[in-house]
Amino acid sequence: MEQSLQSAIDGLIDLLPRLNKDCRDLSQLLYFELAKGKAVTLQHLKSISGYSDARLITLLSQLNYLQYNDDRSIVAYRGITLTPTQYRIEIDFLTEKTMVFAWCAFDSLFLADLLKQNMTVFAECPSCHQAINLALANKKTFDSTKYPLYMSFILPSRDNYNEDLANSFCGNIHFFCNEICVENAPHKFTDNQFFSISDALKIAKQRNRTYLSS
Ligand SMILES: [Zn+2]
Repeated sequence: MEQSLQSAIDGLIDLLPRLNKDCRDLSQLLYFELAKGKAVTLQHLKSISGYSDARLITLLSQLNYLQYNDDRSIVAYRGITLTPTQYRIEIDFLTEKTMVFAWCAFDSLFLADLLKQNMTVFAECPSCHQAINLALANKKTFDSTKYPLYMSFILPSRDNYNEDLANSFCGNIHFFCNEICVENAPHKFTDNQFFSISDALKIAKQRNRTYLSS
C-alpha cells in the first residue's frame, strides 16, 4: 500500500476513540436507525437494543457527538445527521428510499461501507462548484475509473479531533471532480492530502473496523 495512504489510515486509527463492546453495538444501531431518515426515540432505541433505561442512558452518555431534538429524540450522531449539510445522501432500502446528511465526504463513505445499501451522495466540488453525484452500489466493486473523484483529507491534532471534529476534520474533507480541480483547490486545502475514491474507501473501511467492529 502506498505510504501516504497507510499513514493516513494509521493516523486516523490512532485518533479514533476506543469504545467498549456495548457502545460499539449501540453506535452501529444508531447509524442504521438514523439512516432511515427519522429521529430516533429513546423508547425505540431501548426496544431494539434490549438495554434497560438506565443502561441505555449510561451508554449514550459515553458517546460523543450525539445530538437530540426538543423531544429528546436523537437526530445526529458522529457523521450522520437529519439536518441538511453539504452532503446529502439518498439511500435505497428494500422497502423505501430515505434521505439523510453526512458531516463530510469521508462520513458519506464510511456510511456506505457500514450500511451496505445502494446509495447516492450529492455534493459540490469546492474548486469548480459543479454538482457531484457519487453512486455507491452495494456488493459491487467500486469502479474508480468511472469516478475520477478525489477526496481531500487531513489529520487534526488529537485535541482538535476530540473537541471540534466538525471543524477540524469534517470541514476540510470534500470531494473534488478530478485532478484539475485538486490542482485548483482553494487555499484552505493547502495542507491537505488528496486520495482517489477507492483509496478513500479503504480509509473509511478501516475507520469502521476500528470504531465499530466487535
Ligand atoms: Zn470540480
